[in-house]
Amino acid sequence: MKIEESHVVTLHYSVYNTSEELLDSSHDDEPLVFMQGRGFVIPGLDNGLLGKQAGDKFTLKVASEDAYGEYSESLVQQVPLSMFEGMDVEPGMQFRATTDDGDIPVIITEVAEDEATVDANHPLAGLDLVFDVEIIDVRVATEEELAHGHAHEEAGCGHDHGEDDGCCGHKH
Ligand code: ZN
Repeated sequence: MKIEESHVVTLHYSVYNTSEELLDSSHDDEPLVFMQGRGFVIPGLDNGLLGKQAGDKFTLKVASEDAYGEYSESLVQQVPLSMFEGMDVEPGMQFRATTDDGDIPVIITEVAEDEATVDANHPLAGLDLVFDVEIIDVRVATEEELAHGHAHEEAGCGHDHGEDDGCCGHKH
């Protein structure tokens, strides 16, 4: 079966930058299971899966605009150290900042005498990426999955089952 829009895909991946440094991989963990075309993975990977099938292994080059977007200077801000309420602020520290767009992860890139530079860009923003992909399984989504817009993994989907719908822990 070839991957079409909204099919449920199981795959392993490794992702590298253009200097062939490994950035992330699923191979030490469970493979990724998700519904194609619903934004669970970056657009370049999502679209690159169409027409592939179980057993396919391929390399996919994804430009930054189809990955984590361009690096934006407007997401870099100077914040007075007094905002950190006596915390020991050091470059490399990561935390979640509350913004108009919700909670987003940010990193401190520089600390000066009385202010810190806080960068809210995704760590992979501005980078072209190279994916090594291995398709493990492809199936048609169930009616329920299509209605929810996400995959329910086999054996009850693996999510927290505390929700009313009894299927998974996602918010619908
Ligand atoms: Zn669901």
